[in-house]
Amino acid sequence: MFSIRSSALSSRVSALSSALCRPRAAASAGVRAMSMQAVDASIGLTEEQLEIQRMALNFAKTEMAPNMLEWDAKEIYPAETMRAAAKLGFGAIYCNPDFGGTGLSRMDGTVIFEALSTGCVSTSALLSIHNMVVYAIDSFASVEQREKYIPSLANGERFASYCLTEPGAGSDAASLVTSAKREGDFYVLNGTKSFISGGGEHDVYMVMCRTGGPGAKGISCVLVEKGTPGLSFGQKERKLGWNSSPTRQVIFEDVKVPIANRVGKEGEGFSIAMQALNGGRVNISACSLGGAQEALSIAREHLLVRKQFGKSLASLQNSQFKLAEMATGLQASRLMVRQAAQAMDSKHPAAASLCAMAKLFATDTCFDICNQALQLHGGYGYLRDYKVQQFVRDLRVHQILEGERRRILVMVSDLVNHVFGTASRGTGTNNGAGLAPPLTHLLLLLV
Ligand SMILES: Cc1cc2nc3c(=O)[nH]c(=O)nc-3n(C[C@H](O)[C@H](O)[C@H](O)COP(=O)(O)OP(=O)(O)OC[C@H]3O[C@@H](n4cnc5c(N)ncnc54)[C@H](O)[C@@H]3O)c2cc1C
Repeated sequence: MFSIRSSALSSRVSALSSALCRPRAAASAGVRAMSMQAVDASIGLTEEQLEIQRMALNFAKTEMAPNMLEWDAKEIYPAETMRAAAKLGFGAIYCNPDFGGTGLSRMDGTVIFEALSTGCVSTSALLSIHNMVVYAIDSFASVEQREKYIPSLANGERFASYCLTEPGAGSDAASLVTSAKREGDFYVLNGTKSFISGGGEHDVYMVMCRTGGPGAKGISCVLVEKGTPGLSFGQKERKLGWNSSPTRQVIFEDVKVPIANRVGKEGEGFSIAMQALNGGRVNISACSLGGAQEALSIAREHLLVRKQFGKSLASLQNSQFKLAEMATGLQASRLMVRQAAQAMDSKHPAAASLCAMAKLFATDTCFDICNQALQLHGGYGYLRDYKVQQFVRDLRVHQILEGERRRILVMVSDLVNHVFGTASRGTGTNNGAGLAPPLTHLLLLLV
């Protein structure tokens, strides 16, 4: 079962070691130090997952962590680091190996994104969005399309962006108006996508556009390549965080795209977008775990060093209780995220709901952990030279994108209402795949 994956991984681990020109002992010493963090993220992992985790932690520690403050301050998109991550197998993590995918599981993916995020949340999250698109191509595209796109997206030659949101269609994504009108063998696209991560830098754009009537069923999914005439990008948005991830509008003005670039059938675009988002939610949550883990760890180190009233802050019971609460929240979040990932791997009927719940809980809890970590630093936590403030800023947006928290609450509360019959369903606000679970699915949630 693990033969392809193991050999691929061990060769990638060696590639990483030689690429970094670091003695293995030094690298593993770094990992040992990390494993002494307050909450050990390796608990419950298999040998192979531990190997994957070590590899991702090494990469985070050597290639990302030393740069995260600078990438943020100068708003640098670290293209080379993204490429290096893809070369290790992190460009198409849970895609089939037949076209260059790494062939790992969703659970493995959470281990990777958590580990990478200890080094830089924003860059890891951008890589997770790229993986979301590659997954959608691998799962819903034709063999020809997979053959055309996946190899270069897997090895980091090219990167992909996910284009759903529009200026007038955010939470209500199914109301999008970017049009794709058929003309012979082409679609002609017109419209604007907003807040697109990787916009302007990336090479392939997965665009949800309207080929039919109103609502979700009128939406299709097409791949648009950078350089296509009529495709342009807005100014880079100035953001509170996620500054290594460029965000721009993606603008379509009579963009001619071959019909052969459509993924799935006409009208399936929204369903593809929502299925991709289920995994996206788990990945973003995993990125929150990594940020919170690191924030907790550096807060603990700060408390050990900082002295007030003649003793270290770490010796105060208030500090210890605070760390204990943070560690408990982190552990609970990790359990939810990993359970949701496992539900995706086993195609459990409750997977979409578990992903939503994990996202709701983990992104809120992990943001609070980072905020508490900042508080424990006192005034130093507010200084740009200290990493903790960046974790707070970077994790804040996880409560907004890939299912804004109130939207997720609507999804989960619709589900709860359905189970308990406490309110009439169909608030008119849910429009995504996996939001109308059959009774068996709901009952599974209660056990
Ligand atoms: C940094 C960043 C990167 C992003 N990257 C991408 C990307 O790569 N691709 C992409 O497609 N999109 C991306 N997005 C867009 C993101 O997914 C949207 O911002 C998000 O879906 C919310 O939409 P909106 O901003 O239009 O907010 P709105 O939909 O206008 O929501 C505003 C407020 O209204 C509330 N609200 C809305 N509907 C309901 C409801 N039914 N019930 C209760 N409350 C409700 C929400 O709680 C929210 O607080 C990104 C956003 C950011 C900030």
